[in-house]
Amino acid sequence: MNPSTAMSSLDLSTTTADLTAPVISRSDVLVVGGGPAGVAAAVTAARSGASVTLLERYSSLGGLASGGMVLVLDDMINGQEITVTGIVSEYVERLQKLGLAIVPPADDRKASDELWNKWGRFGTFDFHTHVNPKPICYAAAFDPDGWKRVSNDLVREAGVNLRLHSWFSRPIVDDGVMKGVICETKSGPQAFMADIVIDTTGDIDVASRAGASYVKDSYLTTLVFRLGNVDTNAAEAFEQANPKEARAINRTIKRLLGGAWELWWLKTPIDGVVWCNAPHMTGFDGVDPADMTAAEFAARDRITEAVDYVRANLPGFENCYMLDVASQMGVRQTRLLEGEYVMTKDDVTSRRHFADTVARGRDYYYPFRSLLPKEVDQLLVAGRHYSATPEAQKMSREIPPCMAMGQAVGVAAALAIQTGTLVRDVSALDIQQGMRRHGADPGDVPSSNATLDVDAVVGA
Ligand SMILES: Cc1cc2nc3c(=O)[nH]c(=O)nc-3n(C[C@H](O)[C@H](O)[C@H](O)COP(=O)(O)OP(=O)(O)OC[C@H]3O[C@@H](n4cnc5c(N)ncnc54)[C@H](O)[C@@H]3O)c2cc1C
Repeated sequence: MNPSTAMSSLDLSTTTADLTAPVISRSDVLVVGGGPAGVAAAVTAARSGASVTLLERYSSLGGLASGGMVLVLDDMINGQEITVTGIVSEYVERLQKLGLAIVPPADDRKASDELWNKWGRFGTFDFHTHVNPKPICYAAAFDPDGWKRVSNDLVREAGVNLRLHSWFSRPIVDDGVMKGVICETKSGPQAFMADIVIDTTGDIDVASRAGASYVKDSYLTTLVFRLGNVDTNAAEAFEQANPKEARAINRTIKRLLGGAWELWWLKTPIDGVVWCNAPHMTGFDGVDPADMTAAEFAARDRITEAVDYVRANLPGFENCYMLDVASQMGVRQTRLLEGEYVMTKDDVTSRRHFADTVARGRDYYYPFRSLLPKEVDQLLVAGRHYSATPEAQKMSREIPPCMAMGQAVGVAAALAIQTGTLVRDVSALDIQQGMRRHGADPGDVPSSNATLDVDAVVGA
């Protein structure tokens, strides 16, 4: 695939007049994609008084956080300040109550060898710093089935009309205005109508087919797996006592995997169960079934070989077994919206603050315009496919900020319904205030290290 290919819309829409599929529901807001961004958007819009339908292709909610087994919530801090709040904090609290999330306590959030030995293997450290040992920070290691349970509870409590097993296939668009979508199901095509549609599919499936322009690129693709019956105490003791030998063994494992982060295994809230954010594969197109089939086979071959070696060579892993391989391929980047504003790498690294900021990541800000397609009305996007250059997206797509974007569009959609305005005309100030009502930090107050964007206009 050519790097960062600019694409015009796939234009696979139908109109209300041409609709033949049975209409299953009509709601104020329709959210397509039940991952972290989608659940945040649906729950927030429903809590704000809108009637909401949420569609998900798979059998459970959570997207990459559950099906993809991506098991650390990070990118939520600017130094000691917790910058991503709201629904992600609710997940952390509820998961902790279930014993299915682990968060370093405030006193342990600093750098020392002792704290690194205690927390490093949970992945709850600030990976943006280049010091050694890296500082332990506010982050959460969680369990994927716990994520599904909490998602179900939140959606049910908010009164969201949820449809699982419903694969979005075509948007319904009249004269550039979204009217609903069609899903493929075991019962045939089904239509869902709404005043506002939110695309949280991660690959802008809806927006790209409705006429929005986008760019296409790819980044690392990873099939996460978990190992059970690992003696993590023995493994950590071996690494600490024999750093040179451990490094050599880990180097071989990473070569067999064909790429992994420095810590290729991380602890989870369940004793003896570790998750492995590997293998890292390049050159696969996450929206091409032929490529994804090849990726599934390539990943399993590498995993099998690496785990055989691990069992034979890494102390603490002698009796481990393959607990599971993620049911959902870990695709980090595919199509990205080319919306009213395209976030750049410089925006992220210089911590550019916009007057229409409606959500916040680690130390960067999302303007409302980066969630708005140019060509289609009554359509919003949130999550990893938001309007950004591929370079910027790599640095600003972690789970918590995706949830913050989801909350912001949930607030915006509910406000548009209440006031009868087009959703693109909702003022950023109103969204910011709405976010605060939901306990979420909208990033309206720039931190002291932010760069101010003097040209931006509130509500643009
Ligand atoms: C291997 C890997 C490791 C990562 N590590 C971390 C990490 O350590 N910490 C962190 O915070 N983030 C990490 N990330 C990033 C993070 O997981 C994602 O960016 C984040 O989950 C994106 O959330 P989302 O809701 O935008 O999309 P997704 O999680 O992709 O959710 C999209 C949802 O939409 C559904 N959907 C898609 N298409 C359709 C359709 N046509 N019809 C109906 N439903 C559809 C999907 O099934 C899914 O439920 C990692 C990502 C990967 C792949």
